[in-house]
Amino acid sequence: MKHLIDENGFYGEFGGAFIPEMLYPNVKELQDNYKEITSSKSFQQEFRKILKEYVGRPTPLYYSKNLSTKYGAKLYLKREDLNHTGAHKINNTIGQIILAQRLGKKRIIAETGAGQHGVATATACALMGMDCTIYMGAIDIERQAPNVKKMKMLGAKVVPATSGSKTLKDATNEAIRAWIQNPVDTHYIIGSVVGPHPYPQMVADFQSVISEEIQIQLATEEGTTKPDYVIACVGGGSNAIGAFYHFIDNNHTKLIAVEAAGLGVSSGKTAASIALGKKGIIHASKTYLMQTNDGQIVEPHSISAGLDYPGIGPVHSYLYDSSKAEFTSVTDQEALDAGMQLARTEGIIPALESSHALAQLEKMNFKSSDVVVVNLSGRGDKDMGTYEKYVK
Ligand SMILES: *Cc1c(COP(=O)(O)O)cnc(C)c1O
Repeated sequence: MKHLIDENGFYGEFGGAFIPEMLYPNVKELQDNYKEITSSKSFQQEFRKILKEYVGRPTPLYYSKNLSTKYGAKLYLKREDLNHTGAHKINNTIGQIILAQRLGKKRIIAETGAGQHGVATATACALMGMDCTIYMGAIDIERQAPNVKKMKMLGAKVVPATSGSKTLKDATNEAIRAWIQNPVDTHYIIGSVVGPHPYPQMVADFQSVISEEIQIQLATEEGTTKPDYVIACVGGGSNAIGAFYHFIDNNHTKLIAVEAAGLGVSSGKTAASIALGKKGIIHASKTYLMQTNDGQIVEPHSISAGLDYPGIGPVHSYLYDSSKAEFTSVTDQEALDAGMQLARTEGIIPALESSHALAQLEKMNFKSSDVVVVNLSGRGDKDMGTYEKYVK
């Protein structure tokens, strides 16, 4: 997949680094050093050791007998929900913290919406002894109180963003402002395959461990390294690209990315960036995003906080335009139904994000020999308040 991106960070026409001049030194430092540091043997040794002994990798590839019978295929779940902190996000925060240390940084900053990336960042900072500041919209701080408590217990400072709509994009603005003011000692950890080059590539590389493991695990289970289908949900797209990474060029595996349709793609309350999106620039990269005719970003909606993002990582815009992956969408209700079904048939409560990938199974027509992998990106503890209203 490395050949898909050019030296300026473009996947075809998507990506790049459309940043204000004041941010240039920070981003340039990363661009100049990221590849050499992360591809070194000692970096990879440290990264792999922490993933194994602390995060709990490799995560199981679980053959689901019950879903296999129901959907008429060989159905596997990649259990990212079993990672420490309960989702795939920790793979990326660990990688970026090691990079930050090797760049001589002392402080970490990050933005968070629902708090999942904030918790993963605060966790990695506690482990590695780094100072941690998390920017979070004042409204999100109220809505996501349990995650705020976790971040504080882990030793992070949580700074409320009180401008604008007091949500994720305002927290992002605050974090960028803080980064500009502290270019020398601070690293900014972005939580998905979004933002200026080299973030999308860097995050994809760290998450690619997911498909690396799937290949090894399928070779043992099925005698092949090429599944027929890989299905994953997409917010910014980091769990999806991690699950797709090693299958993009094999001309066999069908990659299916599932967006959040919210109340429906044409309801006005949706987060289906590809389905509705027009090309534009969001968070310093060119990609598909939801915007009005005069270029204002449209407020997204999804029942799942992790998918509630008006854009999508540039690599996914490229995969879509080049037909290397198929993009579909699933509504709030379909996701709730799928989450409920997994709880009752397998005894696994999935994150609402992951329930979107599971709901896609209802729309497929498999052959009985098909090997299908669904990336179960996270666990549902954080979503109990939402599921609870629905459980009868
Ligand atoms: C944050 C999150 C997502 C969405 O982010 P991506 O970058 O699209 O993977 C999906 N699932 C879970 C469990 C999450 O926490």
